Amino acid sequence: MDFKLTEAQELLRNSVREFAEKEIEPIAAEHDKTMEYPIETVKKMGEMGLMGMLVPKEYGGGGTDTVSYAIAIEEISRADASHGLIMSVHSSLVCPIILNYGTEEQRKRYLPHLAKGEYIGAFALTERGAGTDAASLQTVAVKEGDHYLLNGSKIFITSAKEAKVFIVFAKTDPEAGHKGISAFIVEGGSEGLSFGEVLDKMGVRCSGQREVFFKDVSVPEENLIGKEGDGYKIALSSLDSGRIGIGAQAVGIAQAALDESIKYSMEREQFGRPIAKFQAIQWMIAEMATKIEAARLLVYRAAYARDTQKRFSMEASMAKYFASEVAREATNYAVQIHGGYGYTKDYKVERLYRDAKITEIYEGTTEVQKMVISSSLLR
Ligand SMILES: Cc1cc2nc3c(=O)[nH]c(=O)nc-3n(C[C@H](O)[C@H](O)[C@H](O)COP(=O)(O)OP(=O)(O)OC[C@H]3O[C@@H](n4cnc5c(N)ncnc54)[C@H](O)[C@@H]3O)c2cc1C
Repeated sequence: MDFKLTEAQELLRNSVREFAEKEIEPIAAEHDKTMEYPIETVKKMGEMGLMGMLVPKEYGGGGTDTVSYAIAIEEISRADASHGLIMSVHSSLVCPIILNYGTEEQRKRYLPHLAKGEYIGAFALTERGAGTDAASLQTVAVKEGDHYLLNGSKIFITSAKEAKVFIVFAKTDPEAGHKGISAFIVEGGSEGLSFGEVLDKMGVRCSGQREVFFKDVSVPEENLIGKEGDGYKIALSSLDSGRIGIGAQAVGIAQAALDESIKYSMEREQFGRPIAKFQAIQWMIAEMATKIEAARLLVYRAAYARDTQKRFSMEASMAKYFASEVAREATNYAVQIHGGYGYTKDYKVERLYRDAKITEIYEGTTEVQKMVISSSLLR
C-alpha cells in the first residue's frame, strides 16, 4: 500500500494552490461581504481546466483521476469555500450526469462548453417541501408532442442565475413515487425560467443560491436524460460523486483553519511568549492536524474507489460525514486560538467557521450519510 501522491498529483496541488492564493484568496473576504458571485475567477478556473477535470479528453476535459480532482477542490476551498462549492456542483454533479447518463448528442453539445467553464452547471433537485426526502418533489414535466412542459420551483440552487445548464428533476408520473421522477437538461435563458433574490446565508455567501421557478418551461424531448423514471437513480448515484467533492471541500476549509492557527499562535504573545508555547494550544493544533489527515485519507480512498470502478457509496458517505465534522471542529479551534480577534471579520478564521457548517448539511446531511453507511453494513 502506497500513501504517496504521484508526481503529477503533487505538481497539480502546487499549481492549484498558487492559483488560489494569487487569484481567489485576495477577493474572498470582499465577496463574502457583498455576496457577489465571483464570475471572473470562475472563468479563470475554467481557463485553467479546473471545471472539466472529470470530463474525458474527447469531450474537451482534462480526463483526470478523481484523486487529482479532490486535491484541486481542496486547494480551491482552502482559499475560499464558495469557489470550491461552485466547482464541485459543476464538476462532480452536472458533468458526470451528462457523461454517464446522457446521449452522445447531449455529451457533444454540452460537455465541451462545461469543461472549459464557458457554461456553468447547476443541479436542481431540492424544493421547499422536498429536501432530504427528495422523492416527494412536486415539480412536474408533462409531455406535449415533442417536448415537455415543466412547472414548479426549486430552492437553494447553487449558481442559479449564472448557470447555462441545469439538471432538473421533475415528476413525469406523479403517481409512481420516486419511480416517476425524470431528469432533464434545461438551458439557462429558457422562456418561463425565473429566479428569486440571492439567498442571504451564514456561509459560502458568494456561491449564488436562489429559488428557481419554472412556468411552462418548454424542454425538447431530446433533453430528457436517460429514460422517463430514471431521475431518482441518477440523482442518488451522482450525489455519491458529489460527496467526494464536498468531503474535499471540508478538508480544504479545515486545512486553512490549521494553517491560520499555526501562523497566529507563533506570532501572538501573551505572558511574554508566543501562545504556541502553551500546551493547551499545542494540543488543539495536534488534534486538528491528525483529524485533517484522517479526513483527507478517507476522501482519497473514496476518490480512488471511484477511479477503480468499485462501488463507492459508503466510502463517499464516510468521507463526507467525517471530513465535515472535522471542518466544524477545526474551525472552532481556529477561532478559539485566535481569541477575540478570531471573532472579528479582520481574520479569515471567522469566515472559515461559518463556511464549515454547510458541509454537514448539503448533498445529504450527516444523518443521511449515517443512513447510507449503516444500510451498506446492515444488509
Ligand atoms: C448553501 C447551500 C447550497 C445548496 N446547493 C444546492 C444545489 O445546488 N442543488 C440542490 O438541489 N440543493 C442544494 N442545497 C439544498 C441541500 O442539499 C438541502 O438543504 C439538504 O439536502 C437538506 O434538506 P433540507 O434543508 O430541506 O433539510 P430537511 O430535509 O428538512 O432536514 C432537516 C433535519 O432533519 C433531518 N432529517 C430529515 N429526514 C430525516 C430522516 N429520515 N432521518 C433522520 N433525520 C432526518 C436532517 O438530517 C436535518 O437535520 C443547498 C443548500 C444550501 C444551504
